[in-house]
Amino acid sequence: MAWRFALVIDPVASDEERTDYSDTLREIDPHGPALAVGELSAQRGDGIFESLGVVDGHAQEIGPHLARLAHSAELCDLPAPNLAQWRAAVERVAREAGRGENVMKLLLSRGVEHGPAPTAWITLADAPDNTHGRTAGVSVATLDRGYALDVPARAPWLLLGAKTLSYAVNMAAIREAKRRGADDAVFVTSDGYLLEAPTASVVLRFGDRFVTPEPQAGILHGTTQLSLFAHLEGRGFDTAYETVPAGDLTRADAAWLLSSVRLAAPIRAVDGAEVPVDRAFTDELNAYLLSPRD
Ligand code: PLP
Repeated sequence: MAWRFALVIDPVASDEERTDYSDTLREIDPHGPALAVGELSAQRGDGIFESLGVVDGHAQEIGPHLARLAHSAELCDLPAPNLAQWRAAVERVAREAGRGENVMKLLLSRGVEHGPAPTAWITLADAPDNTHGRTAGVSVATLDRGYALDVPARAPWLLLGAKTLSYAVNMAAIREAKRRGADDAVFVTSDGYLLEAPTASVVLRFGDRFVTPEPQAGILHGTTQLSLFAHLEGRGFDTAYETVPAGDLTRADAAWLLSSVRLAAPIRAVDGAEVPVDRAFTDELNAYLLSPRD
């Protein structure tokens, strides 16, 4: 990963209004050490994050990403982020992005153990080349997430709807998918419903109707999926959040993995069985997703 820029934020209270936050933002060496030894993000994965796409210097969907950061903070009992301060920081970092695609990560941790305040920082790096996934598509392996559809409501302490830094399970799922000969994984509940991929939302097409699993099912509400649904509705398509049986993944007319940096990657095979890919339509979706979006 080619790191381009890093900024540490000195978080101010969520209700503190300022016209200028620049004295709370500190540039650091993107290749140097940044965290204290007792940092709980490193020790326990105790924190939250967001990954934004930055296209030709434009940070995509800042508002929806900051809204989800605030939602994750609430679920994790972290102090509410000051969204004006975070927006100022995101805009500062975006100025460092060049042409082409970059990835910006916003990180907020519980801070140093027994320390006084959360730790907040932002990194900017070159985005990986996602062209192959966007055009040729991805093969997926369906993996049992190990819990039933009603678990997020019964056990909110599992933080299933929060974008926490504890992604070891998600990374393990991708390794397992690769062991099974696939490019990526799609999680299903133990009672057979579709959830999400380890780092992406799943959207299915049935005729002129686009469907994605309900975010209440303990999955992340994807900013890319939200933006794409608004775009599709504008083009006259129907969109819906539903409880989706896992078998619909192979019954759909088309399906995609969607996330902020990869954008729309058509699913071309499920558990080794080929499924249809609409290349021309996918190109249109990615053209929209690459356009400046707020
Ligand atoms: N679901 C999970 C588990 C993710 O990690 C991500 C993104 O990284 C998404 C869904 C898609 O979210 P977004 O479109 O906001 O990137």
